[in-house]
Amino acid sequence: MAENNRGRAPLPVGEHCCRGPGGAGSLAPREGDGTMRNITGKQAVYRGTGASGGKVCGTLRFFRRPAAGRGSAPARTVSPAVELSRLRQAMAAAREQIAALHRRALSDIGRQEAEIFEIHAMLLEDEDFGETVAGGIAAGKSAEDAIEAAVQVYTRMLRELDDPYLSARAADIRDIADRLLRILSGEAQEDDASESGSFILVAEDLSPSQTVLLDKSRILGFVTFGGSSNSHTSILARAMGIPALVGVGQVSGEADGQTALLDADAGVLTVCPGQDELEAFRREQARENDAARRLEQSRRALIGRPSVTAGGHRMLIYANIGEGAEVARALADGADGVGLLRSEFLYLSLSDYPGEEVLFDAYRQIVSGMQGKKVVIRTLDIGADKQIPYFDLPREENPALGFRAVRLCLAREPVFKTQLRAILRASAFGNAAVMIPMIVSADEVRRCRRLFDECKAELICQGVDFDARMEFGIMVETPAAAVMSDEISAEVDFFSVGTNDLAQYTLAADRQNPLLTDLCARNTEPVLRLIDQAARAIHGRGGWIGICGEMAADPRLTQRFADMGIDELSVSVPHLLAVREQVLRCR
Ligand code: PEP
Ligand code: MG
Repeated sequence: MAENNRGRAPLPVGEHCCRGPGGAGSLAPREGDGTMRNITGKQAVYRGTGASGGKVCGTLRFFRRPAAGRGSAPARTVSPAVELSRLRQAMAAAREQIAALHRRALSDIGRQEAEIFEIHAMLLEDEDFGETVAGGIAAGKSAEDAIEAAVQVYTRMLRELDDPYLSARAADIRDIADRLLRILSGEAQEDDASESGSFILVAEDLSPSQTVLLDKSRILGFVTFGGSSNSHTSILARAMGIPALVGVGQVSGEADGQTALLDADAGVLTVCPGQDELEAFRREQARENDAARRLEQSRRALIGRPSVTAGGHRMLIYANIGEGAEVARALADGADGVGLLRSEFLYLSLSDYPGEEVLFDAYRQIVSGMQGKKVVIRTLDIGADKQIPYFDLPREENPALGFRAVRLCLAREPVFKTQLRAILRASAFGNAAVMIPMIVSADEVRRCRRLFDECKAELICQGVDFDARMEFGIMVETPAAAVMSDEISAEVDFFSVGTNDLAQYTLAADRQNPLLTDLCARNTEPVLRLIDQAARAIHGRGGWIGICGEMAADPRLTQRFADMGIDELSVSVPHLLAVREQVLRCR
């Protein structure tokens, strides 16, 4: 699994009254029965930014980054015979774990995804790798150090071959080595499903690839040391409709497993609350839940009603989704369509490049599931905080300004064309549109269109169906795209504004940095002016414009968007009804 490509900056310090040694514990929740512990620990209060509102009470679980155990074992005298026997035992345990994962993937996901564990099983038995590790042990290394040394040699060798398939194998070798190191250190399996119960997840930070692998059904809320309300963890929390508090600074490791009150509306986490506090919190929570239920009921009456302002401007209310499982919820809450399918989430959940069939299958299900309503499929937005090991991207000083999204796709045409073909094929099953992220120039758009047209020509030759009138659009999420929108609008059918990135690049304010949340909130005007410029440009050519960044759900901005003539607002599913109501309130 990828480590976040951004450097490990010093943690921003949140306000809290108690600090301990801390450190994020384990990617998998630590052992526990999911029930709340007695309130005996030391009370601590942490303050941060509420990235997704709500109140929950539950047990805290710390998550660690996956590669714990990587690198040197604690210094100790090593005996080659003992180390060899530890290695053999670890290999036997790894064999069993991989076989179990293979069985689980076969029954839960599918044959193609399960194949990765067959490859892992084969690599584990690779004679050369085994001999290199054994050679290291014979030369006096511990089992851990010998594995790490062998893995370094093999991954470098594979990556130097400059072959995407073999580079992906390097990530697999790293994965196997991490498994062996975890076993040697006595840790639980990272995907240990033996625990039950729900919990509040505490993490230093969570990369998008880590979040897609979480068992989300058990998470009551998120707390992250760093992060900001525009980070992908926050976006995910809002999509799931669960409370999230970000930028709290380091939470003491002593809090792991303790009872806590998470009040994301007030931006406060209270660890080990007193009995009175706990009871008062529960009463308040019950009151709020009742009010929320009543509000939801009144809003549900709006489903099916066109969202038109008093002045007669119609705005479509679309959903932002990351996977097919969200389609049913989007429809249930009256989405007029899907304005942003974050297609990279599927890639993030796999350990190797998905083939055209896997992608086609996923897109077809979503497109046909939306029953004729529009589905805007954004092409791969990989890079920055969304790192995928098998893409083997170079390490960058400033990944948010780096080799990401369309830049990467244009440099790796086979990967890009595989996705474009799958999207085109899915378009035959409903109303799909394609959208390219991180555009800065009309020339980039023309290059994408050429590849898109090549894919169409190939499909025609093969007699494969697609929607020849499928819309082609771009995300306006760089100031360059907005400034050049006059020229760019000549190349596309629509714009969708990614305000999360547009604000980041316009204000020179890292969207992940909690210290800049206020600065971004106070300076929406430059972003709104760029959106207005883009709206005039695309409307001038007869195209349409939507907003799919988090600003689309901000009720303080709805009137302004209506005044600009914005045609569509695309928001996470839990916001659909509130945004529809807000549009109806507009002048
Ligand atoms: C955005 O940048 O506003 C956007 C919608 O894309 P993402 O948040 O996935 O970068
Ligand atoms: Mg973006």
